[in-house]
Amino acid sequence: MSTSRPSLQQLEMRGNFIQRHIGSNPQQVQEMLAELGLGKLDDLIEQAIPDNILNSEPLKLTGTISERAVIKYLRKMRNRNKVFTSLIGMGYYDTIMPAVIKRNVLENPGWYTAYTPYQAEVSQGRLEALLNFQQMICDLTGMELANASLLDEATAAAEAMTMARRLSKSPSNRVFIDQNCHPQTIAVMQTRARPFGFDVVVGDPYQQDLERQKFFTFLLQYPGCDGEVHDLSDIVRIAHQQSALVTVAADLLSLVILKSPGSFGADIVVGNSQRFGVPMGYGGPHAAFFATKDEYKRSTPGRIIGVSKDCHGQYALRMALQTREQHIRRDKATSNICTSQVLLAVIAGFYAIYHGPQGLALIAGRVHRYSQILATGLQSMGYTILSRQFFDTFVIHTPGRAKRIANKAQEAEINLRIIDADHLGISLDETSNRDLIRSVWRIFSGPAGDQPDINALDKTIAECLPQPLLRQDAILQHPVFERYHSETEMMRYMRKLARKDIALDRSMIPLGSCTMKLNAATEMQALSYHEFNGLHPFAPLHQTLGYQQLIEELEDMLCDLTGFDAFSFQPNAGSQGEYTGLLTIRKYHQTNGQEQRNICLIPASAHGTNPASAVMAGLKVVVLDCDDNGNVSVEDLRNKVAEHHDTLAALMITYPSTHGVFEEAFREICDIVHQHGGQVYLDGANFNALLGLSRPGKIGADVAHLNLHKTFSIPHGGGGPGVGPIGVGQHLAPYLPEHPVVKGVNPHKTEHGTVGTVSAAPWGSASILTISWAYIAMMGAHGLKQATLNAILNANYIAQRLAPHYPVLYTGKNNRVAHECIIDCRAFKQSCNITVEDIAKRLIDYGFHAPTVSFPVAETLMIEPTESEDKGEIDRFCEALIAIRQEIRDIESGKADPDNNVLHNAPHSHRLLLEEWQMPYPRVQAFFPGNNQDDDKYWPPVGRIDNVYGDRHLQCTCPPLSDYQ
Ligand SMILES: *Cc1c(COP(=O)(O)O)cnc(C)c1O
Repeated sequence: MSTSRPSLQQLEMRGNFIQRHIGSNPQQVQEMLAELGLGKLDDLIEQAIPDNILNSEPLKLTGTISERAVIKYLRKMRNRNKVFTSLIGMGYYDTIMPAVIKRNVLENPGWYTAYTPYQAEVSQGRLEALLNFQQMICDLTGMELANASLLDEATAAAEAMTMARRLSKSPSNRVFIDQNCHPQTIAVMQTRARPFGFDVVVGDPYQQDLERQKFFTFLLQYPGCDGEVHDLSDIVRIAHQQSALVTVAADLLSLVILKSPGSFGADIVVGNSQRFGVPMGYGGPHAAFFATKDEYKRSTPGRIIGVSKDCHGQYALRMALQTREQHIRRDKATSNICTSQVLLAVIAGFYAIYHGPQGLALIAGRVHRYSQILATGLQSMGYTILSRQFFDTFVIHTPGRAKRIANKAQEAEINLRIIDADHLGISLDETSNRDLIRSVWRIFSGPAGDQPDINALDKTIAECLPQPLLRQDAILQHPVFERYHSETEMMRYMRKLARKDIALDRSMIPLGSCTMKLNAATEMQALSYHEFNGLHPFAPLHQTLGYQQLIEELEDMLCDLTGFDAFSFQPNAGSQGEYTGLLTIRKYHQTNGQEQRNICLIPASAHGTNPASAVMAGLKVVVLDCDDNGNVSVEDLRNKVAEHHDTLAALMITYPSTHGVFEEAFREICDIVHQHGGQVYLDGANFNALLGLSRPGKIGADVAHLNLHKTFSIPHGGGGPGVGPIGVGQHLAPYLPEHPVVKGVNPHKTEHGTVGTVSAAPWGSASILTISWAYIAMMGAHGLKQATLNAILNANYIAQRLAPHYPVLYTGKNNRVAHECIIDCRAFKQSCNITVEDIAKRLIDYGFHAPTVSFPVAETLMIEPTESEDKGEIDRFCEALIAIRQEIRDIESGKADPDNNVLHNAPHSHRLLLEEWQMPYPRVQAFFPGNNQDDDKYWPPVGRIDNVYGDRHLQCTCPPLSDYQ
């Protein structure tokens, strides 16, 4: 330590967020650089990155602000949002997130920093939570099988449409949509139907003669957007006579008391689980559900959690069936869904567990009763209520006065739904109470009017729902929905599950392509502000000025960082960004009279969502070869663009490539595509290698998606939420998505129209944009560039340390990698029958989550450390892999048993300790290898899980009730 007295200026140097975000301190950075033979971080730019992609002009984002200042700024922003009581309904309802769930899940990194549960042995906690969610959805919908969430209700309905097309034997290409579906659902269905050439008919299924025309699928809303509850039996019967599948978009809370869609014979049931404890968040994120019949399980989109057993024959959970479906089936995949809404599904499931069947019955019963009392009271004031059979939503006839009454309501800080000049809609929710009912009456009657008496009405009104529409069967009978109703028990259950898992709160998660970086606590803060999470997505814009500011500022930041001219935040994940971006390209070609351009070139190394998205956008996939170095073969590209000169629509390229290298020819590749009239779509999942150094929009890309849940610090939540905004050049901006309810979402729109609507909410998962905004604000251009360089440094350091033990598969100039590296494990299969899977599972014994397994190359590991891990953690990880290599050598040399060895038996669960020790290696080696976790050992709750058994005996709900006796 220096003995000289520090200056005041030095004392004033506050804790700097950049140093908090970047794991290694300057000395560690220096040590790693020395290991690579480099002097300073900037040397890496010259060493690893092609010159011709570097930024030629500085970024505008020069300033950074401190953590404290960010909070202050966000508080100011939030004060520009006005949280009124929104009775708008239309798929979004106010709800009460139990504080015990908020504190222990939403605000707990053990839950929100987890990764998608590919490594099932270290994910049993969230897998159990998701199985509970699936069970809840099955019970409420009356279906046999549910997935572990989709992105939103509208896209879930669209997924149901394409699934119906695959399953229906009907020769028709017509889709029938109930006009009483939520308008955003209809809009998303229309967008999705267009590239497939489906004919969409929107009408009234209860009036129309449905037998005359033929359809392959029907979509009904239950209860309707106007609140009306219909008996669905007739339509289901007619549909099934036509070999059409029926999808019912259902409201989860109403299903507590309504007859389930399943018991009407529905084939698919979709909806939003938002009102089960998840704040509206100005549109999201929320978990959509998707339930269907057992016979359709192999065609179901999204991830399904299933029951299996581990090597000890013990109950264990894992993702079932189509887990890696897109990577295997590519352009024939059932769906492009990758990231979904796991954290929100977990919260909705816990909500049901905490309340249990009786608690939910009280909530649903109360909402329903209040609604009937409110409606009857309005009737007694002389208003006509047009809804006859309703749960919580009804329509009031207000001839010529709808606008005026709605304005009056706003004076009382209440938002009503303005249906048209003559009709208003009201939806009540869990938060409604007697005061609200009186306030609404006052709005309709004027202050002088007599108020009906709530208690008197309660005694006299008759149930508006006829007996046959009421549920007779019991729901949520599994013990999990009975056991945790006290807060103490609930808290312990959530902790019990969380501690079974490896999330970022325990160790690094070095997942290639997924950028598991720090999700800083300060970045997460605004999520808990009521003024950000309490807004209805269709609230009048003058109440949401804070959000408008947030969205505009984030768009400006991202434009600066990417070199694009405009962004759309509507896509709820990278996959949705891909789809939307390709739609803008299609629309651009069509507007230019180039309708025939329908070929999409995709390198063989691309992520599976790429070809799946291209097909959804109506494009034909042509695969581009990669050369021996893993780069796109420019020769093959030249051949293919020449071959498809007149029909080339786009190239979809990931940069740096999924092989973890900066290709030298990126600009040349873009030029070639442009010369042949094509557009360049950049998959920006690897933007963490470019941020602050290079702007895709300035080096050849026309459109790119960013994964804000990778590069921009939104946590993965165990497999969602995500945000996949797309940035575009000026020429594509007019076609960016719009919204049927909220106008002005795309300010660049021209008379040529847009691609339509791709998500239910106008700005997608708006509430989590606060996280990325805070990240950028605190890092600034300088910090982001430092982060990128540190990410590249860490990956190169790992590559260098591991190279003597595992071949590094691909490198670029000067033998450097980008922000991730692939190590090759293929040789071990030959030498000693050890697979990459064995290595992944053995890492668990060392306390680590495995890197990406077998993507993009089979039998390899793709490692991405990110900038947030420090040298200590990176060394610990490298040493684990090096030690494992020694364990493999021991098998190769015959020192260890070829079958009964630490790798084949990994991970070692505590269950082994309950038996007499019979392994040919000591217990210490099994449980405490690497000698570095004796004070905080991660104990996998199960041994190696049998995937094949699970798929053969597929069970996607809690064990049958008889098992508990
Ligand atoms: C993660 C990823 C995607 C898909 O993004 P989601 O947000 O999961 O839909 C696409 N491409 C690449 C290269 C990725 O890493």
